[in-house]
Amino acid sequence: MITASQLERLANCPGSFRAPGFSHTSIAAQQGTENHARIEDGTRVAWRSDAQREIAYVIQTDTWTVTRLGESRGRDYGISKERELIDVGCTVDAEVWFEGSDVEIRDFKSRRRVTSAARNWQVRIQALAVWLYYQLPVIAGLYYLDNDEEDVHTFSEFDHLATQQDLRRVLTALSVEPGELATGPWCEYCPAATACPAQRQELLGILDHVDIEATFRLMTDAEVARAINAAKRFEAIVDRIKTSGRYQVMARGGIDIGNERRLEMVLSQRQSLDSKAMSARLTELGEDMDLYRRVTKFSRMQEVKK
Ligand code: SF4
Repeated sequence: MITASQLERLANCPGSFRAPGFSHTSIAAQQGTENHARIEDGTRVAWRSDAQREIAYVIQTDTWTVTRLGESRGRDYGISKERELIDVGCTVDAEVWFEGSDVEIRDFKSRRRVTSAARNWQVRIQALAVWLYYQLPVIAGLYYLDNDEEDVHTFSEFDHLATQQDLRRVLTALSVEPGELATGPWCEYCPAATACPAQRQELLGILDHVDIEATFRLMTDAEVARAINAAKRFEAIVDRIKTSGRYQVMARGGIDIGNERRLEMVLSQRQSLDSKAMSARLTELGEDMDLYRRVTKFSRMQEVKK
């Protein structure tokens, strides 16, 4: 089964379709499901109280028809294995239908910023599904939970036709020849990343240098940038290994690690100063908080616009 959230990766790295572990549910997908639960609870966001939540659609790409499976289905699309390169599933986080006018949909994100709504595979597929179903103009977008920011695009019929063409191109490529593995930003949440030979080769390529600092001094800007981006992906993979390990320690109530030692989850707490309360108290006493503020300057690497 192909889902809209896999398409960004499949379009860029067709080989990942046959990579080991690709069909497993990733930590990112689990986080996405937890996110949906939060939205469902209405504890975090109220985009529109009249919106329907978590509506699953399946697009049949051989006939360009769509099936609306209903609300709150989680990841249950009911797609048979045989039609994995024909049927494409997607879940619309929130949908409002304005009869005879248009349909508005949103995909909620709690993690970092993703590709803009107009070019985002997930949003494009959701917009296509809703358009095929309602035959009405679709306003689709991303809603960032951390600061209530919206990135919205009005999808025209040309946009939907372009999505259909791109989707068919990707599915055809996957059915004919899965292609090579290609590393890039889309690797970050790839379920196959920890077993991916392309990732390993890239990591070994960097570690292979006897003196990394000396080698980096001789590299071009582009080579240094590539190595930094690769390192970010490896960090993400290491984080996933740690998080998965933690889940297992939690789920199993602890694990033995040899030498008569175990890893267990223990409740702990730490104390910190409540700077807000301090500030309020100092203001009450007529003292300026700035007297106690110490500024430490440091430099950090950050992406900036040219
Ligand atoms: S980790 Fe990256 S290169 Fe490897 S299979 Fe996944 S998407 Fe492709």
